[in-house]
Amino acid sequence: MWILGSSAGRALLFAAALAALAFAPAWSAQQGHCATGLFTLRADFPGARLGPCRTIGLRELEVRIEPEDEPINPSPWYGFHAHATEPGAGTLSIRLRYGPYEHRYTPKTSADGAVWRALPASAVTVSDEGDAVVRVQPGQGGLFVSAQENIGNDRYEAWLNALAKDHPDARLMEIGRSVEGRPIRALHVNPEAPRHLLLLGRQHPPEVTGALALMSFVERLLAMRRKACTQPGPTCAFFKGHGFMVAPNLNPDGVARGHWRHNVGGVDLNRDWGPFTQPETQAVRDWVDDLEATGQRLALALDFHSTYRNVFYVQDADSPTEPPDFARRWSTRATAAGNPVPFEYAPRPLTDLGTAKNYFHARFGVPSITYELADEEDRAAIAASAAITADALVATLSEERPGSSPL
Ligand SMILES: [Zn+2]
Repeated sequence: MWILGSSAGRALLFAAALAALAFAPAWSAQQGHCATGLFTLRADFPGARLGPCRTIGLRELEVRIEPEDEPINPSPWYGFHAHATEPGAGTLSIRLRYGPYEHRYTPKTSADGAVWRALPASAVTVSDEGDAVVRVQPGQGGLFVSAQENIGNDRYEAWLNALAKDHPDARLMEIGRSVEGRPIRALHVNPEAPRHLLLLGRQHPPEVTGALALMSFVERLLAMRRKACTQPGPTCAFFKGHGFMVAPNLNPDGVARGHWRHNVGGVDLNRDWGPFTQPETQAVRDWVDDLEATGQRLALALDFHSTYRNVFYVQDADSPTEPPDFARRWSTRATAAGNPVPFEYAPRPLTDLGTAKNYFHARFGVPSITYELADEEDRAAIAASAAITADALVATLSEERPGSSPL
């Protein structure tokens, strides 16, 4: 019998506690790889992210989801490839441990890395502490699991190449290199035009819904451009008078490394428009400065992001734009045209926060809009909405200053 008061009893208790500790699963020192004996997780591809893990059982493990550095905004990105090591392995439960952060992104899965779907709510349990248990059936063929669709640098490369092929008068460019030397690619459509629209994306790597909106928006603009001059009119004049400067992927290092927010320099790029300490923001600044130095003009800037809701951040009444009140007229027109995504219209005062929005407005007086999509907005609605907002943009700019068109 236990005699807890005796020194022998205390020694026995101590030994039992030591034994329990010895059998508690330990966190792996190695990151990016986990194994249960029946399943493996690997983070061995661009866009992957997986912290230390520990195995609880053959069909159960825990992984820590950790940011690239701190302090940081809570956009806890994860991405890994799960495999079963034998047939009929069944369901794997993965606990995502966020530490001081909380589960944010509904897991997306893909067998091939190209076609993704959101896991049903029945396969995800979020605890009161903000951790999540995700249940998947990877099979031996493997299953990608990721915070959002993994839209990587290769996807941008292919997308820009396809656009350039379809629009031989567009200029495919490398406007600079990232901290790690990755190319920052851009497409300049109608580069000789007197006025130009700047479209930026992916300053923040997890903001995939904003990336999807940018792609659909640009595709719509270019499709409109193709047929704009089948008959003369304001739309034809708009496309003759305007070029498009598209830099869809400003943080290729962060995208490749599965960062939550920063570039490899540890900087939030959307706080660097002013300090310009990073090569990624410098590249765009210099691109626009070079344009303006030739006498051509920036007419508008759109910067695509994602957050918890759909929102357009625009200039407030104390920061007039040229053309005047453009953002409100554009947004109202898109809503009237049946925009399937409801956007909050959010005027904000000019600050020295170092955002692209503030920089391009303060420097050039142009409408400068942060175009934010909700993290879990329906993907088909994002594409349909981007087509409508692109149409509304062309219509609104086409009606500007009748009779004083630069052409
Ligand atoms: Zn963002």
